[in-house]
Amino acid sequence: MICLSLTAPTVAEAVEVAAANAELIGAVELRLDLLDGDLSAAVREFPRRCDRELSRRHGSALPRILTVRRATDGGEFSGSEAERLELLRTGIEAGYDYVDLEEDLHGSREGEALAKAAGATGTRVIRSYHDTEGVPAALPELVRRLSQREEEIPKLAVTPRGISDLRRLLSVAPKMRKSNGILVGMGTVGIPTRLLAPRIGSFLTFCSAGNKQAAPGHLDPETLVGLYRHDMLGATTRLFGVIGNPVMHSKSPHFHNRVFAERGLDALYVPFHVDDVDEFFKLAEELPIEGVSVTIPHKAAVISHLREVDESVTATGACNTVVRGAAGGWRGVNTDVSGFLTPLQAARSVKDAAVSVVGAGGAARAVVYALAGEAARICVLNRTAERARRLAEELSASHGFHNISSAALEPENEELLRRHSDIIVQTTSVGMAPHADEDPLHWYEFSGNELVYDIIYTPEITRLLARARKAGCKTVSGSEMFRGQADEQARLFCELVSSA
Ligand code: NAP
Repeated sequence: MICLSLTAPTVAEAVEVAAANAELIGAVELRLDLLDGDLSAAVREFPRRCDRELSRRHGSALPRILTVRRATDGGEFSGSEAERLELLRTGIEAGYDYVDLEEDLHGSREGEALAKAAGATGTRVIRSYHDTEGVPAALPELVRRLSQREEEIPKLAVTPRGISDLRRLLSVAPKMRKSNGILVGMGTVGIPTRLLAPRIGSFLTFCSAGNKQAAPGHLDPETLVGLYRHDMLGATTRLFGVIGNPVMHSKSPHFHNRVFAERGLDALYVPFHVDDVDEFFKLAEELPIEGVSVTIPHKAAVISHLREVDESVTATGACNTVVRGAAGGWRGVNTDVSGFLTPLQAARSVKDAAVSVVGAGGAARAVVYALAGEAARICVLNRTAERARRLAEELSASHGFHNISSAALEPENEELLRRHSDIIVQTTSVGMAPHADEDPLHWYEFSGNELVYDIIYTPEITRLLARARKAGCKTVSGSEMFRGQADEQARLFCELVSSA
């Protein structure tokens, strides 16, 4: 179930946000600590007003949770503890369906009085523990404490700092599921816990709408339902994802979840912010995950975990796709190679073309390998000339290519570039958002006969591509390469889902 945490400053605005999202959610949480003004009046007013408005616009009301979060737990309540407890008591009397009471209130005189009042009015207690800094060491003991009372819903909301923290958090998911509890990993590393709530058995997942997030890592309801298909997830949903650092900017979840949805597959694709590749592979066994896209900076580090490697990985020393192989181990493929070639070959023939490859990083290696295999005549130009030389020499030595030369990327080499200008492939990160006004070839004037391919995909039309188009050149954008490599990944992922 999706619970929308209301972060608006007034009851009227909070009710409006609840009503606007009512079709997507299963419950609302009033975060009283985020409201302005008279909180005592607001806590009484909200249930009536929310029920009335939702019934009018949506046909029925939604369960309401009351939370008054302290600053130490990541909230913004600034009054005294006595005032906070009084507000919670008022809320219980006002008929909220659930009230969030922190774990440390358990056993205290005031806390017990609140729990008793909740029992009398039929308000269910969510017994919560928050850690905004990390994941406590004694997690199983904490879960045991939270789950002591059968009538209460335990809620664990902590902040994994890396994949090993995320693994520890997910290791208590079965216990939380047993007590119908709520498990939340806050922050970017914890986002999979929010997306996988129905899969790991968390009673609900929280989200926020609008500009203000009620907690770090909250997504909006539309993203949870539309992109991450919350409503169709279950215990048997097959898992895929993208690993990177950073990763939340990746377009891959949009691409792959759309493919899964269009094909009616019970599979989900999730972003994993990975600080440690070894730990990720342990997590992949535990969840389990069946395939991932790999992005910067892990394309080389994953290779030592693979049992089978495609020629595209050996040749480029980089792997952007990992899937479970036939024998159970991991298999690596570099779909950047075919993803790069497919749109280029649709635009013109590569055989015997004189090609400049600008840049000599990881992506350039896949590009040069792809072009050399198609018998193009290639010159690699890079800011660091030595890196271009190494790339050319290594690929020539390992594959017997005789068609790769190299040079420094500088205006003095304009003539050399012109001699290799049937196709110009731009593979550096220069011109990528947020530095979209940069152009790595600003000193080169296009004749209009070049085919210019910029593999950057944000923005779709880089300054370099815009200039080339203006000069009359044919162009290919990085989005086309992105689609090409993602299509191939989707084929591998869907094959796995359909085969079992
Ligand atoms: P990388 O391994 O870090 O290589 C970066 C390259 O950019 C190197 O050649 C580097 O030159 C050059 N560079 C960086 N700053 C420069 C500057 N100020 N002036 C001149 N050259 C500069 O990165 P990568 O993995 O190859 O990725 C490069 C780009 O390709 C990224 O924008 C990425 O998003 C894009 N990409 C797109 C796709 C797709 O599907 N469309 C796939 C993969 C990658 P030095 O060697 O001198 O440092």
